[in-house]
Amino acid sequence: MSHLLSKSKYIRGLQCDRALWLDVFNPRLARYTAEQMRRFDRGRDFEYAFKSTFPDGIDLSAELKRNVDAYPARTAELLEKVDGVALFEAGFLYDDVLVLADVVHQREDGTLDIYEVKSGTALSDTYKRDAALQHYVISHCREVRSFSIVYNGADGVNGSNGFNIVDLTEELAAQHDEIARNVAAMKEILRHGEPATPTGQHCLEPYACPYQHYCAQGVRQMSLFG
Ligand code: SF4
Repeated sequence: MSHLLSKSKYIRGLQCDRALWLDVFNPRLARYTAEQMRRFDRGRDFEYAFKSTFPDGIDLSAELKRNVDAYPARTAELLEKVDGVALFEAGFLYDDVLVLADVVHQREDGTLDIYEVKSGTALSDTYKRDAALQHYVISHCREVRSFSIVYNGADGVNGSNGFNIVDLTEELAAQHDEIARNVAAMKEILRHGEPATPTGQHCLEPYACPYQHYCAQGVRQMSLFG
């Protein structure tokens, strides 16, 4: 079954409805700066370091590559077959939203501990919004025992081996109604043509939008729906 939204598209949609639309229908227009690309690489290095603390973890991306719509079925299969398994990039689909969780560890009773890994040195609201979407999706597929964000312990605050691990389970579970409303609103945006959202301060916060050069041209894509 294919998906409509993902974590990155949802976060984009919270920033701007037009950016969401472009991410879904014309992502090739995105332009990332060299510094943004370096930040992605640093994030991957930190994520790999945390994953290495689960030496028997199974990395679904090694097997399935970019075939992301195959991840949920393979994840379900592994969770059924292998007791106590740790999965990297485990896939879950609910409400047309696909999320790939950085680390999922299955307990003996079958419930899941989820770890979302972020390379920043502070627990930002954007990290929490990302985690809240994942909690919403995954807990409609499986019983989630805990959901933690792992961020960079370079500041030394309660860090263990450089990892700050913060359990946000209750806080995230309380946001399900809001997430459902946001997802419904984003699906509605995607039923129509490109929004005429004007540029403004929101193009820079919380992230520099990769479509700024495109929007600055003052043109819009044709509606895909006539
Ligand atoms: S540049 Fe601004 S208006 Fe255009 S898609 Fe990005 S956030 Fe939206």
